[in-house]
Amino acid sequence: MTNFTYNRGEWIENNSLPEWLDNEDFDDWLKRIEYREEFYFCEGYAFRDMAQIYKHINKQEWFASICIDSDGGDVYHIFLPDFPSYMMFIKDYAPAITLIGSSSEQADILSIMEKLFLLYHGHSSLECCYECSPDKMESLKRSRERIAALKLERENKGK
Ligand SMILES: [Zn+2]
Repeated sequence: MTNFTYNRGEWIENNSLPEWLDNEDFDDWLKRIEYREEFYFCEGYAFRDMAQIYKHINKQEWFASICIDSDGGDVYHIFLPDFPSYMMFIKDYAPAITLIGSSSEQADILSIMEKLFLLYHGHSSLECCYECSPDKMESLKRSRERIAALKLERENKGK
């Protein structure tokens, strides 16, 4: 985990959040440091590309927990020491983080759709059959017939 502070547009290495202990459950840590979930602004499929904001129970302090690597390994905690910093962080970075998350989500959805297509049609969605693309199959058939006719014509000319 990497810690930063985002103070009214300025990035600072490290932050003042109490340390998350090695074997400590994340929810236990949150309880211990008196933070609660504020909202997700990007929830990736299967907990990848996750971005969430937490708020201190009594103070006007927030932190963002960002995980934008595809293995879900690297987590960044960005401490937002006041309301302007919180608003500026959302304005500056939420669209980019959401974009990364949604492109990963779309790839996951596409992969699921591809598997479903294969299950129903017995072929990849890049190929076609009379069931899923009858027009394309007819046009393919006519193209093959034309090519075969041209080949035959050339062979006959050669004789
Ligand atoms: Zn098909």
